[in-house]
Amino acid sequence: MTNLFIEAQEKISFACEKLGIPKDASEVLKHPMREVQVKIPVKMDSGEVKLFTGYRVQHNNFRGPHKGGIRYHQQVNFDEVRALATWMSIKCAVVGLPLGGGKGGIVVNPKELSELELERLSRGFIRKIYDVIGPDKDVPAPDVNTNSKIMDWMVDEYSALVGRKELAVITGKSVGNGGSLGRDTATARGAQFCLHQYSSLKGMDLTQSSLAIEGFGNAGYNFAKLLSGEGVKVVAVSDSRGAVFNAEGLDVEDLMKWKQQTKSVKDYPKAQNIAMSELYSTDCDILALAALENSIHAENYGNVKAKVIVELANGPVTADADNAFFNKGVTVIPDILANAGGVTVSYFEWLQNKDNEYWSKEKVDEELSKVMKESYNKVVEVSEQHNVSLRLAAYILAVKRIYDAWKD
Ligand code: GLU
Repeated sequence: MTNLFIEAQEKISFACEKLGIPKDASEVLKHPMREVQVKIPVKMDSGEVKLFTGYRVQHNNFRGPHKGGIRYHQQVNFDEVRALATWMSIKCAVVGLPLGGGKGGIVVNPKELSELELERLSRGFIRKIYDVIGPDKDVPAPDVNTNSKIMDWMVDEYSALVGRKELAVITGKSVGNGGSLGRDTATARGAQFCLHQYSSLKGMDLTQSSLAIEGFGNAGYNFAKLLSGEGVKVVAVSDSRGAVFNAEGLDVEDLMKWKQQTKSVKDYPKAQNIAMSELYSTDCDILALAALENSIHAENYGNVKAKVIVELANGPVTADADNAFFNKGVTVIPDILANAGGVTVSYFEWLQNKDNEYWSKEKVDEELSKVMKESYNKVVEVSEQHNVSLRLAAYILAVKRIYDAWKD
């Protein structure tokens, strides 16, 4: 399988060459500054102690504290976390946040743990990494399979360890515990704003468009809901257990109710089941990828019929597929831009915690819209200037900003 960390490093090298950044400096930009691996002993409900492996990778902090989520997944590994941390440095710079990149993960299938085991694991991870994180050092957040409840436990554990309530150490908390309004829908909203920019630049009428979406978690569900709310027809949806299709359109809320009852979109009575791989070849205008890495690669990109691909997940389109789409004239709105709404509102949350002044949902959305629109237009401008894909343009823009902030 493609090594995403190496792919990310290759793109940084490419950007450095385009920008005339010397090779020794490019080496610095390509490597994480700190990598931590920990073993977390957790007392299971059975009384047995189980050892879990966790990682925190701090890629770069030239522009500000490391920032990035923590994911819980059975496939988490060091190189994946390195790639995800690198993308965070790039992502934060693309949208102009004064933050660097980091990422964490625990090798676990959280669906197999009880609520109490999950809490002990989350607190145990913080006990192992608390000295390398902090509001001005490294600020974690949610990612795949983690949520505001887990962030609240982590803040509580960190606060107990340092002896004071420290809200700004982690973002994506619940609203009652210092979280920001609009953080839960921020990733989807940010992607929606990107799609608005795309459609207005390309003259695409969204109300006449159809959408297929891989992944029906926080980002995927909210994106489907927001777009169907503005007249886009959602024709196919998948999750980790199955996929469904209806050419006439799916009722997103009703489908979510079904998923909540049965744990999957599979067998939804008002649609037909399709193979998960068929979702990518659905006849649709917009393909949104909101699951995991490596969904579209050299072997299956040829089946894609959509005109535009929106990466709500991190790394769902591999580098060779990305190049092929660019050559075919299919636009890929890359993760480091399309899903940056999440970290942007995380930054707003961090500011609100620091100032102890809380924003309305309207203000969050308005500020997010400004950031996303400006960033989208800037990335398009760089892509036209260098005749490269939006992804490579985003790298060029970000690497320049990170290099310019280097004070060594
Ligand atoms: N995990 C999200 C991402 O990949 C959000 C990170 C954050 O809010 O710090 O962008």
